Amino acid sequence: MNIRYFDNAATTRVDDDVIEYMIPYMKEVYFNPSSLYKPSIMVKKAVNDARERVAKAINANSSEIYFTSGGSESDNLAIKGFAYANRKKGNHLITSCIEHPAVINSMKSLEKEGFEVTYLSVDENGFISLDELERSIKENTILISVMFANNEIGTIEPIKKIGDIAKKYNICFHTDAVQAIGSVNVDVNDMNIDMLSLSGHKFYGPKGVGALFVRKGILINRLNDGGHQEKGKRSGTENVPGIVGLGYAIEKACNSVDENNKKISELRDYYIDRVLSEISDVKVNGDRTNRLPGNANISFKYVEGESILLRLDSKGVCVSTGSACSSLSLEPSYVLLSIGLSHELAHGSIRVSLGKHNTKEEVDYLVDVLKEVIGDLRKMSPLCEEE
Ligand SMILES: *Cc1c(COP(=O)(O)O)cnc(C)c1O
Repeated sequence: MNIRYFDNAATTRVDDDVIEYMIPYMKEVYFNPSSLYKPSIMVKKAVNDARERVAKAINANSSEIYFTSGGSESDNLAIKGFAYANRKKGNHLITSCIEHPAVINSMKSLEKEGFEVTYLSVDENGFISLDELERSIKENTILISVMFANNEIGTIEPIKKIGDIAKKYNICFHTDAVQAIGSVNVDVNDMNIDMLSLSGHKFYGPKGVGALFVRKGILINRLNDGGHQEKGKRSGTENVPGIVGLGYAIEKACNSVDENNKKISELRDYYIDRVLSEISDVKVNGDRTNRLPGNANISFKYVEGESILLRLDSKGVCVSTGSACSSLSLEPSYVLLSIGLSHELAHGSIRVSLGKHNTKEEVDYLVDVLKEVIGDLRKMSPLCEEE
């Protein structure tokens, strides 16, 4: 069956030229970058070229880039590594209540170890309040971690303003920019970002490889013991094919942000407009302006997100949902509850995340199928009083 893929926030297809670029580092140039013979020099150079490319993409210095196994590890290393290294200065951290689990659960595990964490609330569009942030800062606050853009509802936080506040109080500022890279132009200096997490597979690069930017002068502890790779901050033989692929992919993605965004956001608006005009009782979640170009998170009243998802799946359409009825937790998405959605609306949400490969024909197919599926489900729904 023809697959129509609308889940680019979960992962993206690796570009063919990225794959071509990676292959030699598994075949001919397979050497360990730490070895001392000549063939290894080529590999070391390729890893450092990739480091330069990542640095350039976010306006950092290449000595400030550490390669990791992905966004989750970068978040863990930034938050726990910083907290452990700076415990003497204070034990209070600030984050938001809509962070990715890699951030939220890192914070939770620090709480168990005696750190204190403030979870900032968000408004109905998913924005943190700069006032609340400033009021939460205490003498012993050492770190602020707020995501660049939310993976579920697409809201882009006021990162530069958060960076300004962090700088004013001399507090380290980390941002999980996994969803932002390739979709937003990021400049760690202009935005006063001290640490930034990114991941290859969210911008048409390989899975299992990411990077953490740590500004010069910021101290973090290593989390795993081993060799001295990545200047002793991240032990383990480098994932060379992944790293060179990530370097190639981030350069490509950041050079085409504007061009891709124009196409993708037009498609997204077309999708949202069609849904709003052709399906009744729907709510668009997240901010309509400051949002990721590809994200459309919509709640369909009276129906269950997972039922929609499964029916779409049977038609070859891949989407995501904030509902979790069949999973172990009956709670719907904490992000959707945090922006004030009722349990019912949160359970009826479908996230469509468009990427550069999606076409208008695919979106038309999606909306046509969605109309049919929602109509069917509402006919059976005990919640639906109409008809
Ligand atoms: C995907 C994602 C992550 C996790 O990245 P992995 O490379 O899959 O570990 C972290 N944060 C956000 C916002 C994400 O979207």
